[in-house]
Amino acid sequence: MKDFTLLAVFAHPDDEAFGTGGALARYAAEGCDVYLVTATRGEAGQIALPELATPANLPAVRERELRCACQTYGIHPPIFLDYLDGQLPIVHQGQAVGKLVRIIRDLRPQVLITFGPDGIYGHYDHLAVHRWATAACELAADPDCYPDRDACQPHQISKLYYRVMPQEVLDAWSPEGRPGAVMMDGVPFPFVGYPTSEITAIVDVGAFVESKRQGILCHATQVGDASRYATAPDEVLADRWFRQETFRLARSTVGWPDGVESDLFERLR
Ligand SMILES: [Zn+2]
Repeated sequence: MKDFTLLAVFAHPDDEAFGTGGALARYAAEGCDVYLVTATRGEAGQIALPELATPANLPAVRERELRCACQTYGIHPPIFLDYLDGQLPIVHQGQAVGKLVRIIRDLRPQVLITFGPDGIYGHYDHLAVHRWATAACELAADPDCYPDRDACQPHQISKLYYRVMPQEVLDAWSPEGRPGAVMMDGVPFPFVGYPTSEITAIVDVGAFVESKRQGILCHATQVGDASRYATAPDEVLADRWFRQETFRLARSTVGWPDGVESDLFERLR
């Protein structure tokens, strides 16, 4: 996959880890150039273990954690958009999209993965990144948008994917039927799951689950040392939905799949 480039765009360090760490590792191992753009340094995140960071140095610590994860996946070092955690909906939207357009024209990926319109659990930073990346995909190909004649030329991304969670995973988390949720400011933000019929790509990352698990563990301020990723590795590595990552194809210039794709570069190889 020498001439292929994959770009992932997320909001916070660790957003890439749980649902796409395996795919990032797999495509890097196959020789694809894999890049990760992260909009913030996650400074509003928790500190699971007080000895790891203070509120003052959390951005630097989480940057280090993300660098550790990228190294573990075998991909390029992360590219930060240098925004503040929690503020993505209120920053200058045109400037943010412009930054992504510039990165897309520079790196020239065939495939881009980002959040879907659900933002996994509706985190407003995730929703902002979803809108930015979706708009940037379109605008990067338009020579009249963000013209930059001295730098990079317009670039058409072939396939845009949204990372989505299978409903089955959520059902397994909450057997009593009460949806799992992330608490933000005391308000539950429920996870959004998709029925299998709406998932258009299932990528087998079985050979890369240990890199994926180690990538997750790099985000120590977020996962701590008591999570199942640290304490029950065998159970994690055997989990079907840890070994398979799920996406929805949102835009394609190379046609639409007949069935469920098993490779994000299908029709491009
Ligand atoms: Zn996030």
